[in-house]
Amino acid sequence: MYMAHRIELDPNNVQATYLARAAGTARFAYNWALAEWKRQCEACKIDPTLPKPNEAALRRQLNAIKAEMFPWMLEVTKNAPQMAIQQLGCAFKNFFEGRARYPTCRRKGRDDRFTLTNDQFRVKDKRIRIPKLGWLRMCESLRFEGKIVSASIARSAGRWFASIVVDTSASSLPLTEIQGAVGVDLGVTRLATLSTGETFVGPKALRSLLSRVKRLARSLSRKVKGSRNYVKAKSKLARLLARIADIRRDGLHKLTTFITRRFHIIGIEDLNVKGMLGNHCLARSIADMAFGELRRQLEYKAAWRGGQVVVVDRWYPSSKTCSCCGHRLDMLNLQVRQWGCPTCGALHDRDVNAAINLRNMAVSSTVTACGGEGAGLAFEAHGETSPGEAGIQQQS
Ligand SMILES: [Zn+2]
Repeated sequence: MYMAHRIELDPNNVQATYLARAAGTARFAYNWALAEWKRQCEACKIDPTLPKPNEAALRRQLNAIKAEMFPWMLEVTKNAPQMAIQQLGCAFKNFFEGRARYPTCRRKGRDDRFTLTNDQFRVKDKRIRIPKLGWLRMCESLRFEGKIVSASIARSAGRWFASIVVDTSASSLPLTEIQGAVGVDLGVTRLATLSTGETFVGPKALRSLLSRVKRLARSLSRKVKGSRNYVKAKSKLARLLARIADIRRDGLHKLTTFITRRFHIIGIEDLNVKGMLGNHCLARSIADMAFGELRRQLEYKAAWRGGQVVVVDRWYPSSKTCSCCGHRLDMLNLQVRQWGCPTCGALHDRDVNAAINLRNMAVSSTVTACGGEGAGLAFEAHGETSPGEAGIQQQS
């Protein structure tokens, strides 16, 4: 299993210059190869005997000319241009197989990154060794054990990070503690409510920092584009947005780790996040809570620990059904937080009741699945992902 650890780097000025130059080389190579790809494609249409463009040939082509035409490329690791062209090949593959749009140019300031293969760097304690640069300090040491696969170095809001991918065996993580089931109700006012009654408010980072985002965005809009003050204001805003993203990611990781550590079967609702985002009142809260990301993390972390996430159909009325007797209300307003069951008299907290229903659905669906019967309203979501397909799970 592939796991990535994203570690902040602590370069001095000379090292930061090197990193920026390597990222620039990668960007140049990517854009060069993209232009060359288009040109060869056109040539192919006119003369079908010519070979179709491919990334391996483009890498050889660049290698043959770079010493003469782009001698500055030799000042940084050879991985920078090579891996960029390989990534272009992946981008085209994704495009041809309908998973992505046609590749576009990399831009300075947005795509400042380059990738190293495992034979080109070494990690020791809190240091990483990069070719033609030497040892570079990292802010923490690598958390995972196993074979190192690759590293991506990227700049985000003025800070440099190394995302180091390690091939760990699944058994290196302890299995879930209680092999029990839990239902997780995702909400707007509360991030998550468990069927055990525990609630998570969630960091809601964006809302509390939103006024600052607004102020900085306004101040940026008043600056003359391209001026020094514009650049300053822009980087200030970028740093704030990066901080919000960090707080949000931290909160989500803590929650999903907490749940997957304790429970074996996890029932969640299949929320139609895109549909809900159309509703503007809820939109900001929901986007802030990052439901999709929460589900993704639950799925892959459950898979790490031998657990299982059961996604319950979004039409299943988890809020309106009494978890004691199964009575189903005709309607339940969004504002109603508590309700009493008219049949059995049980008093329900809206979210806890929904979570209990989700847990029951998850348990019954795994039982019926084992019995060979139809899984009913729920289907099982395997969190297993292959690194090439869904990307590498990021831990930071
Ligand atoms: Zn009831």
